[in-house]
Amino acid sequence: MAYIKLNLTNYEHNVKILAEKAGGIEKIAVVLKDNAYGHGLRQIAKKASELGVKIGIVRHFDEALLIERYFDEIIILADYPKEQNLKFIYAINDINFIHKFPKNTKVHLKINTGMNRNGISPDEIQIALKALQNQGLKCLGVFTHHSSGGAVGSEYFVQNQAFKKAKEIILTYSKKYGFSNLKFHSHNSDALLRSQNFNESFARVGITTYGYSDISEAFGKFDLKPVLSLWAKKISQRELEVGDKVGYGCKFIAKEKMNASIYDVGYADGLFRFNGIGEFYLNKNQVLGIMSMDNTCIKSTENELCIISNANEIARYFNTISYEVLTKLNSNLAKIII
Ligand SMILES: *Cc1c(COP(=O)(O)O)cnc(C)c1O
Repeated sequence: MAYIKLNLTNYEHNVKILAEKAGGIEKIAVVLKDNAYGHGLRQIAKKASELGVKIGIVRHFDEALLIERYFDEIIILADYPKEQNLKFIYAINDINFIHKFPKNTKVHLKINTGMNRNGISPDEIQIALKALQNQGLKCLGVFTHHSSGGAVGSEYFVQNQAFKKAKEIILTYSKKYGFSNLKFHSHNSDALLRSQNFNESFARVGITTYGYSDISEAFGKFDLKPVLSLWAKKISQRELEVGDKVGYGCKFIAKEKMNASIYDVGYADGLFRFNGIGEFYLNKNQVLGIMSMDNTCIKSTENELCIISNANEIARYFNTISYEVLTKLNSNLAKIII
């Protein structure tokens, strides 16, 4: 089997950079959705907890249950309670779904400040607060999400302004509806990195903790280090003669004598499938021919080969982002902590 090595020293290094930017480790909420971006939910949650992080963020109730012991609070972005849990806090993404949450559920109200993904419109704030009160929910916070946190341009400021306005309205009416000590949060990784004088309750950081950022270089260079590397073992080795073909469809034909090995990794492990056309490298080693489901022919003789050391290498080739390369990795891949 291919397997993942987790460099938790790098994770610590990244979290420290973010904590410094945010104003302390207590201002960091780590985003652990989708198997901690492919890194392993439990492994990353445990390490974050050891570093003093108190808030974890996931998508679903079941993920929250798995990491309950590691955090004081777990924010669940898109689910409903299956049972009561005092640590769990649910995002309210739509005013029409408030009735689905049982009485006494802890919630954070999401505001749509321009991304038009989830959240209530700023015009609905009063109605929403009233609905939360009527439903008997405990509203502990209010948040929004940036569409362009790491991009040069006005959108970040437009959304900040919209959130500030929403905050003012909420603070005007929150007492009336029985809510106080509200937490406010809007910054993801790149928004935090580009922010100046960050002063929210906490930042919700995902990709940067794992060592990546798509922030514009205009905001400086950040010394983030990839946490994950993917490794595979050699299954077989052969010497190719001139004219030998490799793999399905014979897309690779050797132009010179070379050693090639088959490694036990393929698209079933979550790699993007190389179609055998042109040249493609995995961590600087050339892939020969079409990648199979569980086998990849690589110009190497190493017994164990690093397949991914930097997700951006693959992301660039397939015209996508590090997030997708990482979250596509099969959650069954074994994790080894180094
Ligand atoms: C995924 C997510 C984040 C984390 O974003 P990064 O860019 O990985 O830091 C933060 N907030 C919400 C609501 C998210 O869905």
